[in-house]
Formats: sequence, C-alpha cells, structure tokens
Amino acid sequence: MRNQLAILGGEPAIQYPMTYFKSMGEDEVTAATRVIRSGVLSAYIGAPGEGFMGGKEVRAFEEQAAHYFGVKHAIAVNSWTSGLIAAVGAIGIEPGDEIITTPWTMAATATAILHFNGIPVFADIDLDTFNISPECVERLITPRTRAVMAVDIFGQSADMHALRKICDRHGLKLLCDTAQAPGARYFGRLAGTLADIGGFSLNYHKHIHCGEGGILVTDDDMLAQRLRLIRNHAEAVVKSDDPVELANMLGYNFRMGEIEAAIASVQLGKLEARVASRQQAAEQLNQGLRQLEGLKTPVVSEGCTHVYYVYGLTLDVVALGVSCEKIVSALRAEGVPGLMTGYQNLHMLPLFRNKIAYGTKGFPWNSPYCTSSIEYGPGLCPVAEQLNSQSFFGMNLCMFEYYPEDIELIVDAFCKVWSNINTLRNSDAA
Ligand SMILES: *Cc1c(COP(=O)(O)O)cnc(C)c1O
Repeated sequence: MRNQLAILGGEPAIQYPMTYFKSMGEDEVTAATRVIRSGVLSAYIGAPGEGFMGGKEVRAFEEQAAHYFGVKHAIAVNSWTSGLIAAVGAIGIEPGDEIITTPWTMAATATAILHFNGIPVFADIDLDTFNISPECVERLITPRTRAVMAVDIFGQSADMHALRKICDRHGLKLLCDTAQAPGARYFGRLAGTLADIGGFSLNYHKHIHCGEGGILVTDDDMLAQRLRLIRNHAEAVVKSDDPVELANMLGYNFRMGEIEAAIASVQLGKLEARVASRQQAAEQLNQGLRQLEGLKTPVVSEGCTHVYYVYGLTLDVVALGVSCEKIVSALRAEGVPGLMTGYQNLHMLPLFRNKIAYGTKGFPWNSPYCTSSIEYGPGLCPVAEQLNSQSFFGMNLCMFEYYPEDIELIVDAFCKVWSNINTLRNSDAA
C-alpha cells in the first residue's frame, strides 16, 4: 500500500503538516517594545530639514540597509508597491512614456507604471530563468520608451549586464523590482544595486519582513532626493517653479513608521542566515529531484546566486504524457506543501486586455499623450504563456521551514509520484 498514490487512496508519503516559517523572535519584540515605550511611532516633518527624512529608527534602518547593500542611498517606504510607484515617478516619466517590463511578476510591478500614466509594455521571458529576455526587450523599444523595469523573479537576478547595455545604447533608465531577491548576488554584487533604482518588499511573505514595508536602493543622489520627496508629500518642500523639479511630485504618503523600521532592522540582520537556509533546502531538493525524468530543476545562471523565494520547476509534459495539474494534485495528496501551478501572465489580465485602469474609457492608452498603439493578449509572450498554462510549477520556499527531514520526505513524495507515472497518466484522478 505504501507505494499506492495517495490521490488513488494510498497512504500519503508525508503524514504531518509542515511548520510554517515564523521569523519573529524576541529581538523583534524588544525592538518594537523599545519604540512603543519611547512614544514616538513616527517622526516625519513635512518641511525642509532633517525631520523631513523621518525618525531615528527609520534613518538607522536606512543607514544599515545602505551599508549592507553597498549603495549610497537606501530609502524606507511603507510597502514595496509604494517603492515601485515612487521609482517610476522619480525617473521623471511623462504620460504616455513606455516602460518595458515582464509579464511574470506580481501585478504591482506593472500597475506602478500606470500610476504615473506610463504605458507598460510586456517583453517575453527566458525559458530557463523565467526572467525578462533582453532580446525581447530590445525588439520592443520605440521612440517613446523611457525605461526598462526588470524583475528578479523567484530570487535570481535578471540578465542585468545585457539589460544595462541595451539601456545605455538607447538612453533608458533601468529599474529593477528585486522584491523576491534580497541577498541574491550577481557577479558579486547584491541584487537591486545593479539598476538605477532597485528595492525590496518587507511584507509578511518575503524572506524578511516587518509586516508591511519596503526599501529602495540607489547610488544616484538626484533620484534619491526625488524618491524622498515623493515619499513625504513633496509639495511641502518643492516651492520650485522649475517644471522638471515639480514633475511627478504629487504628495503621496509612502512613509514607514518607527516600529516597522525597528523590526526591519533586526530582520535585515537575519537575512544572510535565512537565505543560506533556503539555499540549503533548494540544494537538497536539487540532489533528490535532478534524476527524475521530464522534470527540470531551477537553472542558476552564470555569476548568479539564487535565494529561492520560489523553487521553480518545469515539466516536459509531452514526454511525461501527464498534465502539470495532475502531477501537482498527486504531489499535494502526498502531503507536499506550498505548491503552485503556473505563475502569472500580466498581459492577459482583463485590466490590460480591456485597457480599464482609470475609469472605464481606456485611459491612459487612448489619450493624446500615448502615441504608440499598444495591444495586450494571447500570443504576445509565447514562452510565458506556455510556461504558465502548461509546464511550470513551483514551491513557495519561504512559506514553510522545510527542515532537512521535511525535504527528504518531499523528495520521497516526488519519487513515488514519478514511479507511478503510468498509473497517474491512465487515471481519472485530479
Ligand atoms: C511582493 C512583491 C511586490 C509587492 O510588494 P509589497 O510590499 O507587498 O507591496 C512587488 N513585486 C514583486 C515581484 C513581489 O514579489
């Protein structure tokens, strides 16, 4: 019975629920308590001067982050979505300017572009790394292209050298959504620091978190200044008549509070250890799954380290003759936690296909400022579409602890499903 698939009534390979990852410890409690006792939970002032930059905890966290990431400026915000919006505003885009990005990311990457009435243009992704394809980016450049927004999806850097070359050749800014890749390295440098502006999410699901929060990183003084202005109701400071200085200074409140900053500070100190533990889990999975036929384990590009926010797998569904859904259902029945099938296809979302963002009439795509005709929908990104609908599945490696003995059982579960692949192919289960 032990070898009968759980989905067909056999005993599951894993018989206990795995432990959810819990990163909050006594150090975080102490840090948060210290701030609460101080009575100062936020300390920004909306006028020029030091107070404009936030309170003591925020500034200490920023200093620590700038030091860790090796950048001139780290700027804390209340979420990474806020960070993305601020980044798009800071580079000074005009309505109708195009920013090339990837369909394999969270919606916030692309909607951040829309917030300043920029137009997201989707480039296809690389079959091995799931990151934006530089060749596809270059084909999509028009006179209206202003920037490229790469994403280090799942915890591995996009091909930043190639993207930088393209951006330099065409006079474009390079932004990077590195939300999933804190601590990942690209030819020795930390992810996020290779773009003009990069940054990280500190939401509950990520490697490190403070509930909600984000951190922007840049080496550019002017961009840093503009990011800080956008974070804190810029109008309080910019009394300027200069249209370039005023552009996109719309008075947001993207401020991080003192409690979050104090917690984020402790969490940042734990990042390297957390990353190492995910890498260890992934390596153990690689060892166990590598020999399974028709299954491709994560490809780590030359010069890169991967921090495995997601452990991404690809199936050769033709060779196996079994659908991804069926295999994942069988694995779930065996007790494998944290699985997902497919990932994203932003260019297929109704928001984009029907161009419904601001109101119902197609703005900003149909405004006179938007001079290219941009369409979204099937066929635009064939690699992403194929992966999403047919062959990709992943494991959320930040969701559970995944101790070595857990991984051993997960590998057993995979091997069991693979050794029953013929039965699974012919069954009606799932
Ligand atoms: C988590 C995430 C975001 C959003 O971050 P928040 O802090 O939740 O706003 C954006 N992009 C990517 C790729 C993410 O993984």
